[in-house]
Amino acid sequence: MSNAATASIDNAAKSMTDIMALCKRRGFIFQASEIYGGVNGFWDYGPQGAQLKKNLRDAWWNDCVTNPPIGPDGDEVSIVGLDSCIIQNPKVWEASGHVGGFSDPMVDCRETKNRYRADHLMCICEDGDREGLIFAYLEGDDDSIAQTRKKLDKYKKRIIEDDKLCTCAFLELSANERAITVGPDVKIPGTLTEPRDFNLMFPTILGATGDWEENKAYLRPETAQGIFINYKNVLDSTRVKVPFGIAQTGKAFRNEVTPRNFTFRSREFEQMEIEFFCHPDESQKWYEFWRDLRMRWWESLGLAGDNLLLREHDKDELAHYAKTGAGTSDIEYRFPFTAPGFGELEGVADRSNYDLKQHAEHGNTKLEYFDQERNERYLPNVIEPSAGLDRGVLALICEAFTPDPDRPSKVFMKFNPRIAPTKAAVFPLVKKDGMPEIGKKLQTQLRKRFGAVEFDAKQSIGKRYARMDEVGCPYCFTIDGDTLTDQTVTVRDRDTLSQERIALDQVEGFLAEKLGA
Ligand code: ATP
Repeated sequence: MSNAATASIDNAAKSMTDIMALCKRRGFIFQASEIYGGVNGFWDYGPQGAQLKKNLRDAWWNDCVTNPPIGPDGDEVSIVGLDSCIIQNPKVWEASGHVGGFSDPMVDCRETKNRYRADHLMCICEDGDREGLIFAYLEGDDDSIAQTRKKLDKYKKRIIEDDKLCTCAFLELSANERAITVGPDVKIPGTLTEPRDFNLMFPTILGATGDWEENKAYLRPETAQGIFINYKNVLDSTRVKVPFGIAQTGKAFRNEVTPRNFTFRSREFEQMEIEFFCHPDESQKWYEFWRDLRMRWWESLGLAGDNLLLREHDKDELAHYAKTGAGTSDIEYRFPFTAPGFGELEGVADRSNYDLKQHAEHGNTKLEYFDQERNERYLPNVIEPSAGLDRGVLALICEAFTPDPDRPSKVFMKFNPRIAPTKAAVFPLVKKDGMPEIGKKLQTQLRKRFGAVEFDAKQSIGKRYARMDEVGCPYCFTIDGDTLTDQTVTVRDRDTLSQERIALDQVEGFLAEKLGA
């Protein structure tokens, strides 16, 4: 069942503070190492969050690997799964270009010793007049942005308007130009250093002895390379033929300079990636197929309407490996912290044969494919739909968050039933007269088929409904005095708040129909 057609509430009006508070209160997401003051860029998932994340990962695996889609030619697409290691031979990352090129330009603040991404600095300059250029870091929470603005206003002795702001990757300055930099939390402007490159890979050491350089390895910054280096193994060990895909989900690590926006930019996150190998002549067809299919997939989970955007990259935006390919596009979601703008959820790119070529060269191995039908030997092109699982979960949470002043909880989570972490709840109205026993039996029956079904006999029924509204449980079943006489229960619908009575022995069928399970 999809709520794709329902109009979305304006995400700009949703408060991230409220969303984060609900995530903590109801066990979706916690700050990692919270009792030690946290650790920047790392998040733990609580019971509801872990289940939500698993549901999204499972939905992806099911729709890509277990029950693959029908391809552009009307045949089922051929896709197999993989689970490769987080740590690989460091040569993998030399070949992929991550050791040499996976870096962000960064600036340090001499006063606070904080570090920022240079391309997140804002440049302020007069129209048509670059004199008195100011670079200011205008990101973060509303308070720190307001403080930086105040400092700038004082410095320039005038109000800085939004249309004078533009992001820049540190503009080139001519000899007679002077730029003033303004970092957050500083007393005087001019504290930011020139940008320097900073590699985003996390290094680690293998083994207990030996020196750092000799035994250095890296935590993978993406799952994709694990697929490329196993492409030959998969071909040799299965019956797949080009065109085919390899899918993998798993952790990736990036030492992001400025982790922020809750889980959106974390240092440890999970990806869901497919590398789809095809004949170079068929790149365009498969690129368009995957781009459109992935967009529809996110829509089917309830991200739709104005909050989802498919954005084709301009030619000058393309990564080096995608320059010759059929294209790159981002599926973007309007998060409350990006609104009215959008943030990337998934990238779909034609990576040409760049990665296979690099590994063939660096690994001194043959990765060409012999196509029997075409009687041709070639390196396949690769179409890569690469999604962030944590960003997906965050988008689903933001989309589901629905303020409702008329409910006791004042808010409910309108998850699509397919990915809702708790599918149903069973409540005995009171803890007597055999009601708990009937409820327990119903819970056992339902969870065998539908997964997470809660049983709750504590507090007033209103409070129990309110809790379930906040975790986004679509249906609650209440056992009451009438159940004992006529074998019926009350079912409450999370979205409409309607209540109806159905027979106890029809509950399973009712849920199956509603959940599409
Ligand atoms: P961004 O431009 O936001 O840094 P990216 O273009 O570097 O992202 P990719 O390398 O294409 O991202 O990674 C694929 C997907 O992995 C992204 O679409 C995103 O969903 C997810 N992802 C990337 N970096 C992070 C991160 N630091 N935290 C959470 N998810 C991430």
